[in-house]
Amino acid sequence: MKIAIAGAGISGLSAAFYLKQQMPDCSLTIFDSGSRPGGTMHTVNVGGFLFEGGGNGFLTNKPDSMQLVRDSGAEHLLLPSSDLARKRYIYHKGMHRLPESPPLFLKSGLLTLRQKLRVAGEFFVPKKEGDTEETLQEFGYRRVGKGFTDVFLDAMVAGIYATTPDRVSVQAAFPMVVALEREYGGLFRGMLAKRKKGAGPGGVLTSFRGGVGSFISHLAACIDAEWRLGSPVTDIQQDGEGYLVSANGNAEYFDHVIVGAPAFAAAEMLFGMDPELGEQLAAIDYSPVAVIGFGYDSLDHPLDGFGLLTTSAAGLPILGVLWDSSIFADRAPDGAKSVRIMIGGQRNPELVALDDKQLLAYAREGLVKTMGVDADPDAVFIRRWERGIPSYAPGHLGRVADIFERLASHPGLHLCANAYGGIAMNDCVRNGRELASRIARTAS
Ligand SMILES: Cc1cc2nc3c(=O)[nH]c(=O)nc-3n(C[C@H](O)[C@H](O)[C@H](O)COP(=O)(O)OP(=O)(O)OC[C@H]3O[C@@H](n4cnc5c(N)ncnc54)[C@H](O)[C@@H]3O)c2cc1C
Repeated sequence: MKIAIAGAGISGLSAAFYLKQQMPDCSLTIFDSGSRPGGTMHTVNVGGFLFEGGGNGFLTNKPDSMQLVRDSGAEHLLLPSSDLARKRYIYHKGMHRLPESPPLFLKSGLLTLRQKLRVAGEFFVPKKEGDTEETLQEFGYRRVGKGFTDVFLDAMVAGIYATTPDRVSVQAAFPMVVALEREYGGLFRGMLAKRKKGAGPGGVLTSFRGGVGSFISHLAACIDAEWRLGSPVTDIQQDGEGYLVSANGNAEYFDHVIVGAPAFAAAEMLFGMDPELGEQLAAIDYSPVAVIGFGYDSLDHPLDGFGLLTTSAAGLPILGVLWDSSIFADRAPDGAKSVRIMIGGQRNPELVALDDKQLLAYAREGLVKTMGVDADPDAVFIRRWERGIPSYAPGHLGRVADIFERLASHPGLHLCANAYGGIAMNDCVRNGRELASRIARTAS
């Protein structure tokens, strides 16, 4: 059986790895438009500082990434985040430590007493009837009040989806939170019930020695496939029971095709074969993000924590700062420190298109205003993602359901990327593995 994978991010790579485990005899061809596998998971070494272009690891609260690490024999690369990184900050009219316990929440200056009482009142907010979709803002205002939503949820959603609470569907982006209300009647009730059942903590952020790129290189080396890097797939056409995949001016037949590229790229590949599917895919919205890395041979700031997220109300040009060298031990040379600044998102999408000089000026301004750091960096890294993170905008679940319904009329054609069933590395790995199992089942 001949299988093509168009897009070798972690979603496509996970599908490839598990396909080869379950169907060692299948012939696998992996296309990617880039010159390396990994997609947004990419580490760059700038003078001894390791900067991630995208995500820096995975949480151990779900088993999928860890399972892939074990299955591919990459345990020796694992690098858990430092205990120091448990401390997080929010910048909202000044720097505040993110309260991690009810007593710290009560003491926190992030909300007024009235706003804190409104949060406590969540316990008495009746459960929403029906399953109409809500934005995170609507959900938050209803359950925990405007104060908590505009500070905590606003900062959190900037950090995960680079978006704002009014532009994201709570059902699509945070299904577990919605389930707490549906199953237990409320968030506090749900959390208490889960704690009684012995549900564990949120997991530990874990990465890899040498950055996520070292795991990607390891994983790719484990996959016995014909690699076609620097080969963007331009078109996919039905051909009998299979598909003709075009890249670099050649069209090749495959029995199954897995499109692991982002939805907007999948749209371009599929538009010629199925314009309706192409349009549905093109309608998936992405948040633009720029990642700026600064390395300092020496820096006065202690960087004692994970970093900070800003609120929209703070009116700053940055979404947040990750204190990279404090999170993972090997991200900076001994005695040196490094940070990564996130800019843009749905708050300020226009900033991502700025030239390097302007972007760096905004990053520096963000550091001065939040951390009081105005030192000249010794290493600089810049990575722009014009369409970086699927934003799971209102209507997302309906769009995805329509896409997969349409896809069902093309047996052997599959979509596997972070645009459909979760953006975290754990989600991408799980979706890739489950798809591989489905294909293996149909083949046997
Ligand atoms: C700035 C940033 C920070 C993030 N932080 C985190 C984090 O901390 N934790 C976390 O879990 N997740 C994070 N994410 C999200 C996470 O990185 C992604 O969800 C995940 O890596 C996406 O993997 P993917 O394989 O679905 O897509 P991608 O990584 O986008 O891979 C898609 C691949 O398709 C290829 N492609 C595109 N067009 C074509 C074509 N025409 N033909 C062939 N190939 C093509 C691309 O070159 C790419 O290699 C972050 C993302 C970004 C952008």
